Amino acid sequence: IKKRAVSCPAFRGHYTFRHGSTLVVAEHEGGVIKPPSLSALAAATCLPDPDSSVSVLLAGSGPSLHQAASHAASSYPSISKVLVADSDKFKNPLAEPWAKLVHLVQHSGGYSHIFAAANSFGKNIMPRVAALLDVSPITDVTGISDSNTFVRPIYAGNALCTVRYTGASPCILTIRSTSFPALQKSVDSNEASISQVDLSTLDEDLGRSTYISQSSQGDERPDLGNARVVVTGGRALKSAENFKLIEALAEKLGAAVGATRAAVDAGYVPNDLQVGQTGKIVAPELYMAFGVSGAIQHLAGMRDSKVIVAVNNDADAPIFQVADYGLVGDLFEVIPELLEKLPEK
Ligand code: FAD
Repeated sequence: IKKRAVSCPAFRGHYTFRHGSTLVVAEHEGGVIKPPSLSALAAATCLPDPDSSVSVLLAGSGPSLHQAASHAASSYPSISKVLVADSDKFKNPLAEPWAKLVHLVQHSGGYSHIFAAANSFGKNIMPRVAALLDVSPITDVTGISDSNTFVRPIYAGNALCTVRYTGASPCILTIRSTSFPALQKSVDSNEASISQVDLSTLDEDLGRSTYISQSSQGDERPDLGNARVVVTGGRALKSAENFKLIEALAEKLGAAVGATRAAVDAGYVPNDLQVGQTGKIVAPELYMAFGVSGAIQHLAGMRDSKVIVAVNNDADAPIFQVADYGLVGDLFEVIPELLEKLPEK
């Protein structure tokens, strides 16, 4: 049995061994696999299989696709095969062409399980893949007990549900990346095979959606979903102008900025910064919450953070129930003091 590369959440007791192979649908950027997809890969290695065979599907066009394929094939011993779909049709993560691609790859590969990250990429594509394959997907998986039994949060993360998959093959899963540490590169070199997906039989009709544009926060701050430190502000900031205090602190700490839905709804910051049930799920090393009450919908997005620091002027605020360090105080005094005392970057 291969040595496990990652700790597998919710694995308890004995495995029921399966016979099959796994496909991971992955995103890449700058010639490497993106961290959420590395978490999906890590989850795939948690499936019990003495002959575990994990293939990764990378698609797109241009040199960075091939760079990502070589990097994946040589860096991660858990990967046995890299499938490359080189076409402009997959340059952007539109659900319709990508779902047809995964359907095609499944048709030739006969995988028992198909994984993707439960981020906007996976959430967009995998339900459509499941519909094309006429199976029911299991979404937002946080733990793997055996090849058919998975754990996923329900009721905004207030309860964990153990689900047994009894449907036809393949079992389609999206993985909550904060529950599976990204697959680590190995110091030993790996030699996974790289093969091109034969796209000659791909359906010509690739759907009605058209890619228009994508905008993001910019490169100067870490991505909220993967940042090691997140500084979040709530309604108590009172204005977009005051929210700059949160941004200044994040800047000093090299952190990503997060916000509650109340702060987003009040227009202090754009909604891609929202953390919570209807925002992003984060689990950084350090999560700092300023003027955040700790509503369950917010906790659903950050309660897995390693260390939680909360500053709130109400000693009874629910955020203190999950905080490792709590300070009852006025954020308009605490943040300027922190800014003054923290060393320059
Ligand atoms: P409040 O609850 O108003 O809390 C402000 C806090 O700031 C208070 O605790 C107060 O004591 C403290 N405070 C005030 N002044 C100061 C000061 N000067 N210094 C220090 N502390 C101060 N919310 C999310 O965040 N993310 C989600 O994804 C999300 N999804 C939702 C989905 C649904 C279906 C629903 C119904 C709600 C959702 N919400 C979500 C909203 C959620 O219920 C809360 O309303 C929201 O999280 C509250 O945001 P807040 O903590 O900023 O504001």
